[in-house]
Amino acid sequence: MQFGQGLWFAGGDVQQSPDFFHEGDLVSVLTTQPLDRTLDYKAPEGGCVPGALVEVPLGPRKVLGVVWGPGKGDFDRSKIRSVIRVLDAAPMREEMRLFLIRAAEYTLTSMPAMLRLATRAPGLGDPPSMRKVYRLGTGKPDRMTDARTRVLAVLEEYGGLAFTQKELAEMAGVTGSVIKGLVKHGAVAEEDTPRDLPFAPLDPERPGKALTEEQKAAADTLRADIRDDGYGTTLLKGVTGSGKTEVYLEAVAETLRTGRQALVLLPEIALTAEFLARVEARFGTRPAEWHSGVTMTERRRIWRMAGQGQVQLVVGARSALYLPFQRLGLIIVDEEHDTSYKQEDGVLYNARDMAVLRASICGAQVVLASATPSLESWANAEAGKYRKLELTSRFGPAVMPEMRAIDMRGEQLAPGRWVLPTLRAAVNSRLQRGEQSLLFLNRRGYAPVTLCRACGEQIGCRHCDARMVEHRFLKRLMCHQCGDTIPIPSECPSCGAEGRLAPVGPGVERMGEEIATLFPDARVSVLSSDLFGSARALKAEIENIAAGGADIIIGTQLVAKGHNFPLLTLVGVIDADLGLQGSDLRAAERTFQLMRQVAGRAGRADKPGTALLQTYQPEHPVIRAILSGNEEEFWKAEAAGREAAAVPPYGRMAGIVLSGTDLQQVFDLGNALAVQDAALRQIGAQVFGPAPAPIARVRGRHRVRLLVKAAKGAPVQAAVARWIAPHKLRGDLRLSVDIDPQSFL
Ligand code: ADP
Ligand code: ZN
Repeated sequence: MQFGQGLWFAGGDVQQSPDFFHEGDLVSVLTTQPLDRTLDYKAPEGGCVPGALVEVPLGPRKVLGVVWGPGKGDFDRSKIRSVIRVLDAAPMREEMRLFLIRAAEYTLTSMPAMLRLATRAPGLGDPPSMRKVYRLGTGKPDRMTDARTRVLAVLEEYGGLAFTQKELAEMAGVTGSVIKGLVKHGAVAEEDTPRDLPFAPLDPERPGKALTEEQKAAADTLRADIRDDGYGTTLLKGVTGSGKTEVYLEAVAETLRTGRQALVLLPEIALTAEFLARVEARFGTRPAEWHSGVTMTERRRIWRMAGQGQVQLVVGARSALYLPFQRLGLIIVDEEHDTSYKQEDGVLYNARDMAVLRASICGAQVVLASATPSLESWANAEAGKYRKLELTSRFGPAVMPEMRAIDMRGEQLAPGRWVLPTLRAAVNSRLQRGEQSLLFLNRRGYAPVTLCRACGEQIGCRHCDARMVEHRFLKRLMCHQCGDTIPIPSECPSCGAEGRLAPVGPGVERMGEEIATLFPDARVSVLSSDLFGSARALKAEIENIAAGGADIIIGTQLVAKGHNFPLLTLVGVIDADLGLQGSDLRAAERTFQLMRQVAGRAGRADKPGTALLQTYQPEHPVIRAILSGNEEEFWKAEAAGREAAAVPPYGRMAGIVLSGTDLQQVFDLGNALAVQDAALRQIGAQVFGPAPAPIARVRGRHRVRLLVKAAKGAPVQAAVARWIAPHKLRGDLRLSVDIDPQSFL
């Protein structure tokens, strides 16, 4: 949450309201403007219901709002203005209003910011957008021409269907004026229809795949939950390829049968072509797709249809959680452990937690699917709060890959090389057999560090406390914090020495070079988000790889997620130790999840796979757990460690980041907060810091961090709100609160 001048988060419940407000009644309206309260207005002509989306005057402007309840009446009635109009959209249901209140409380977000999340579709206030369509009319044209005959033939062929002018002109091979001519004589009828058309119905009765015993048992349990019609959360755990998707699609089918709507949340939403095709195969038509790449018109359509119950299934990114579903019955959170579910700027929330919150309010089921659940979900399942369903084996002949470590201390490498002889031999044998290898390195660019061999300077970002990463493909150095780039210099910016700058360490681009030298005849594909101009180009390359268009794939964590490469039988992890460095609470968990997930890419079809991990510490407990595949053991050990330290999920945390251009000011505020901690002490919470954040400067702003630790069950949010409230943010100071921080940036 970002605090501006005022802090406001709504407590309590949805206000008691009459069923209807008559014209002139006082109503309180929550707007999307950054105010610390609702505003009173008079209900407009025709009245309005609680939850109505309205346009209200605010100073000289018209702004969007929701009728939140009866007016407070603590304002001179003669000065109160009227609601301008009620928008032609489904009113916000009480359940949704309660969800926004609870979500605001949980994440310490202001209500206007919550409302903005819930109305993120353009043109909600516009009158329903119409377009002209054409169908067969009853009149007779004055004379027939070839062109006119063709138009009428098309319309006759398609019976009652209506077309846009463009479609009809194209199909008949005529210009628009031919159609207009026919309209004039009534031979073609012109009609207005709303642009926001309902989505084509999905057919849950189409046969799904024949499920295995284990899959069927899981699907039956989920189906029964859905028929019971109430809240519940299930952790669906199963190795990659075990059929989790097949199973949860059955839960979706059951939801559709009961006439309710379903939402599937996926990470990395740009990459779902394969998923959409699977939904289409199962239900006969595509679901609605909600993410940042979707056009504004389509967003508006989905938003409206969700509210009218005219879209049955939405597949989307985390913000789809705030769509105004009319009868939401099921939320699937696929790859529930994925870090992209945690929004890291603006409103800080974890979509997984918000999915559970929303479902518990509207009486829906949640399915959290993962091969490597988050420790939070694992602990909730252990504690009996979530049901746990497990799929233990891969579908069909596919088996989990054999996993081994390559001890980097035991093999020789030339400087500037990263592929050990053992891994090289393994890749070679795949090449011989016509199979694919994936080399995984979670580092974009060419080299993470550019070092001056004359003075020892490492080139850093001008605005951030971060090193510039060489991107040779772009011919630039780039800061991964703020995105600033500079041309690759030829002389050292510090000592001026010419030609002494050298790349240090590997990035995927550099791996590409090494692999091209080692295997000059192999077709190599480097998969990193920044090497593709568009999500579409990236998608195309992924499809090309899946079809066998590459022998060796080099990729960042982008490749860890959900792609199916049937020919892939070897995964080589270049630096398995990378994620274990740093002080992050979740470093071990992350590494474990990522390595298991990447390894799961190997051997999905009929050929068994192998995963080789290059590591300097094969005896490290996390590496050992990854290799042994003994997941329960890993989670138990990890849980015990966190419990002993009283950190999440066995204790509560809130991260506070203060930032500003003046370092002294930032620290002064941090110190003031640290000293005036009475509100925190009241709930037995402790505050640590202020300390420079791990990335102490971003975009020219200094960053200082405080960490609040409290016991499990302590009312952290309310205490933090009380703690912060007295402090005014002067100048360009900013304060953001992250409840349950995922990482300590
Ligand atoms: P997960 O979601 O656990 O990674 P998927 O549901 O994607 O697993 O299944 C992996 C592959 O196996 C997919 O291609 C899927 O269609 C196939 N599959 C899984 N279960 C079955 C089944 N019962 N019958 C036919 N194909 C199946
Ligand atoms: Zn920077």
